[in-house]
Amino acid sequence: MIMEEQIYKVLIIGSGPAGFTAAIYACRANLNPVLYEGMQPGGQLTETTRIENFPGYPEGVDGNDLMEDLRKQAIRLGADIRFGAVTKVDFSKRPFLITVDDEKVVMAHSVIIATGATARYLGLESETRFRGQGVSACATCDGFFYRGKTVAVVGGGDTACEEATYLATLAKKVYMVVRRDVFRASETMRKRVESTPNIEVLWNHNTKEVLGDSSGVTGVRLLNNKTGNVYDLPVDGFFLAIGHHPNSDVFKEYITTNPEGYIVTEGKTSKTNVEGVFAAGDVQDPSYRQAVTAAGSGCKAGLDAERFLACYLPTL
Ligand SMILES: Cc1cc2nc3c(=O)[nH]c(=O)nc-3n(C[C@H](O)[C@H](O)[C@H](O)COP(=O)(O)OP(=O)(O)OC[C@H]3O[C@@H](n4cnc5c(N)ncnc54)[C@H](O)[C@@H]3O)c2cc1C
Repeated sequence: MIMEEQIYKVLIIGSGPAGFTAAIYACRANLNPVLYEGMQPGGQLTETTRIENFPGYPEGVDGNDLMEDLRKQAIRLGADIRFGAVTKVDFSKRPFLITVDDEKVVMAHSVIIATGATARYLGLESETRFRGQGVSACATCDGFFYRGKTVAVVGGGDTACEEATYLATLAKKVYMVVRRDVFRASETMRKRVESTPNIEVLWNHNTKEVLGDSSGVTGVRLLNNKTGNVYDLPVDGFFLAIGHHPNSDVFKEYITTNPEGYIVTEGKTSKTNVEGVFAAGDVQDPSYRQAVTAAGSGCKAGLDAERFLACYLPTL
């Protein structure tokens, strides 16, 4: 195992909007941050070509272009951006020890975790093929493209009900594909779905395949698991709402998470239960999960780290 001698003031884990924004703020505070990009440099937005809701882009922006701009901005201000994924941490004492790619240990006085959350998919080959061409795991991000169209939403929990009712304000018709004959959702969400006239719930249904052509999704092949009937339903969009997996596993020995794995932060701050370790972006946000909220919380983490170091570093 290689051990770097230098102790960094701030080490940022993750290169999505949260990580790069934290890096920008840490640079501006003269903290010379090191940022590890992980296995998806640029984060989730590199999976999409159309972002219409990030402020400051009147014509919309390509996800890769936005992330490349954020990366360049962080580098220009002095961030040390590195390839590598964090595979282990020791937050039991300061300086913290961070292992990268199981081969190198880096030391830091403070750490910002910005590792995001990964949407769960059904695991169908056709779903992967049409991702970004009609298959989406984010109604807030992509619902706008389905105004006046027909969409299907998979899932029976609170998120699925929320996504379906949101989409129903834009789309002509929303089908909810629910595996069982009841919702897992709360009473309130269930009632909201039931009182929305353009939502039709397909109980006891499983998705066999997403159908499409060169223009994108054209339908979905469904199985009625009660009757055994398999049929094709024409839809323009296919939305997954079966949950997210916050990328917090590597920190769980030290960092408190909620039952779903989201990192718990203190009040309106980015502070975790370990002093000097902060969390930003989707990894600590079960409800919004948007690029601009991730960037906003990255800003908070950068400022929180600066304030922590102002108290802690002079005593070293
Ligand atoms: C297809 C798609 C389209 C979307 N469209 C929109 C949209 O139009 N508008 C919008 O506001 N939002 C959109 N979103 C949501 C948006 O992308 C996320 O809310 C945002 O990217 C979250 O930012 P983040 O920085 O928290 O995490 P992420 O962007 O998920 O970045 C996480 C980073 O952490 C890194 N990482 C993970 N584990 C490790 C590790 N162990 N070590 C080191 N690094 C690690 C990854 O490599 C990645 O760089 C979309 C998401 C998807 C998937």
